[in-house]
Amino acid sequence: MKYIGAHVSASGGVENAPLNADQIGADAFALFTKNQRRWASNPLSSASIDAFRANLAAVNIQPQHVLPHDSYLINLGHPDSEARQKSRDAFLDELQRCQQLGLTLLNFHPGSHLRKIDEDVCLSLIAESINWALERTQGVTAVIENTAGQGSNMGYRFEHLAAIIDQVEDKSRIGVCIDTCHTFASGYDLRTIADCEATFAAFDGIVGFSYLRGMHLNGSKAAFASRVDRHHSLEDGLLGMDLFRFIMNDDRFDNIPMVLETINSDIWPLEIALLRELATTP
Ligand SMILES: [Zn+2]
Ligand SMILES: [Zn+2]
Repeated sequence: MKYIGAHVSASGGVENAPLNADQIGADAFALFTKNQRRWASNPLSSASIDAFRANLAAVNIQPQHVLPHDSYLINLGHPDSEARQKSRDAFLDELQRCQQLGLTLLNFHPGSHLRKIDEDVCLSLIAESINWALERTQGVTAVIENTAGQGSNMGYRFEHLAAIIDQVEDKSRIGVCIDTCHTFASGYDLRTIADCEATFAAFDGIVGFSYLRGMHLNGSKAAFASRVDRHHSLEDGLLGMDLFRFIMNDDRFDNIPMVLETINSDIWPLEIALLRELATTP
């Protein structure tokens, strides 16, 4: 079965996110558990944690179908050790928040070398950071997202994801999230069914579907292989709908949260309904 939603607002408190997801017809969702553009934030209150758990149960969404996203400031592969430790501390806090909310996944962008260290060194630092944080937490899986490869961001090749996983000690708590826009912009074509078959076969060979813990379903405004990260609505981007039809009818994408980060939140209910229709179209 497919579980579909969007990255919904948690403004006013994390407990509002399940209600916002329910309102758009979602049975999966993403959220930020703190302000994503600030380092510091207050701990989650026990009232907020209790309300989140109660609301999640009330709207009948499973904890494993929630894919929290960490702060944009975190860089687990930062070349500078002090800055890297600041990111590790923040990442640990994010994992602990997920644990408090009874959630099992945390989605994050791998990190950036900032043109100061080699890519391989950066990937090893990222894996080291993940090991450090996983040792200090329980029950939450670190979910690496593939990137468009903008700037000095790592994660734009499936080999990067595989290299990180390879160096993570606890393989039961590491996974990946594939973003359709990032995949296309980083140079894996997805415009035709044949492209989808080839790209996901490459993913399976290099990373493996057994590590797939979530999907970001986005159209792309940016050109193929442009290494530019610009999302679009599903029907308006350069990707076309064959990709989404392919995903919705392939059982390798079953039972994981699939989250829209498309640019027009007004049409999320329509996009979710459209995806569900694609699933039943022969
Ligand atoms: Zn994404
Ligand atoms: Zn993006």
